[in-house]
Amino acid sequence: MEIKEYINIKPFSSLKVGGQFRYFSVISKIEDLKEAINFAKEKNVKIFVLGGGSNIVFSDGIIDVLALKIEMKGFAVVLESDGYTDIKVGAGEIWDEVVSRTVDMGLSGIESLSAIPGTVGASPVQNIGAYGSEIKDTVTEVEVYEITTGKIFNIENKDCRFGYRDSVFKNEARGRYIIANVIYRLTKSNPSIPKYPDVLKYFEEREIYGPTLSQIREAIIFIRRNKLPNPNEIPNVGSFFKNPIVQNGVADNIKRDFPNAKFFALDDGFTKVPAGWLIENAGLKGKVFGNVSVYDKNALVLVNSGEATSEDVVNARNEIVKVVKEKFGITLEQEPEIV
Ligand SMILES: Cc1cc2nc3c(=O)[nH]c(=O)nc-3n(C[C@H](O)[C@H](O)[C@H](O)COP(=O)(O)OP(=O)(O)OC[C@H]3O[C@@H](n4cnc5c(N)ncnc54)[C@H](O)[C@@H]3O)c2cc1C
Repeated sequence: MEIKEYINIKPFSSLKVGGQFRYFSVISKIEDLKEAINFAKEKNVKIFVLGGGSNIVFSDGIIDVLALKIEMKGFAVVLESDGYTDIKVGAGEIWDEVVSRTVDMGLSGIESLSAIPGTVGASPVQNIGAYGSEIKDTVTEVEVYEITTGKIFNIENKDCRFGYRDSVFKNEARGRYIIANVIYRLTKSNPSIPKYPDVLKYFEEREIYGPTLSQIREAIIFIRRNKLPNPNEIPNVGSFFKNPIVQNGVADNIKRDFPNAKFFALDDGFTKVPAGWLIENAGLKGKVFGNVSVYDKNALVLVNSGEATSEDVVNARNEIVKVVKEKFGITLEQEPEIV
């Protein structure tokens, strides 16, 4: 295991911002963690666990951490029954390659999460979700390495405290564990079409009824390609803001002026308002803030024109939050983490 110093962050960031990691190491097997953690203790720096860097805004300057780029691999069937298959997957596997593999195996459960960038280890951290699916519906257990004790054990789904783009790993257990493997339970039953207008339209137009798993995966990839910029071409971190959940009264007030707006009523008197809708209707879609702009095809995404610093991103974010607050009285919350 090699520990490098002053490593440029940009190649590890899908938004292509950030300065340097003070220390950096690639972890390809769990046995390397002990040595890396001891090194961090000696140097008195914190550990930062890095997957694909697709949900992080890295700060400019030197970040005084030991960044561990997790590349622990592995894919194994660990339980098989008539109705389902459990697979155990290494944290360093590329998420979309795993989706592709499970679709080829005829296993359903994560096909709607096709084409989400990043690694398996990050999938439970923010409970990745898209088109009505969330990872919390398939994760049975998360195998972790506890940084302070070096113990390896499994955390059950219920103890992961999954919520909307949220889990225990972002809250109480933040910085405590390195996720080594994730166990998913996938079914052998026929898949159902995600009940999302874009997906339904895709199949209607093609007159496909009862699509196969592969056809659902293809549909999701096709739809996402038209909505989200490819980070390899246009640096971004996907959705920059969470969809705010507000009291019905707040949503009703907005609907008075925008009767055609599509909001989603939840239980207990709350409504989920699409953040992209708020940004677009605050007149910010395509708006350029120097080196950062609101993507012109999807107002939920901020893109780096190439030269942006982390400070530029934060300034653009602050301006968007301010304008949306003034117009609609709702405070947007950022989705990616700032490190
Ligand atoms: C174009 C685009 C589209 C996207 N679409 C979606 C979408 O539809 N739905 C969605 O939910 N997200 C989406 N995202 C966000 C992102 O892809 C996911 O959050 C993804 O899970 C991040 O994976 P990563 O490996 O890049 O994690 P990173 O960005 O490297 O890390 C994210 C967090 O997880 C932690 N972490 C990573 N690996 C581990 C580990 N092994 N152990 C412990 N902690 C770990 C990190 O410390 C950090 O806190 C999108 C991003 C982009 C760029």
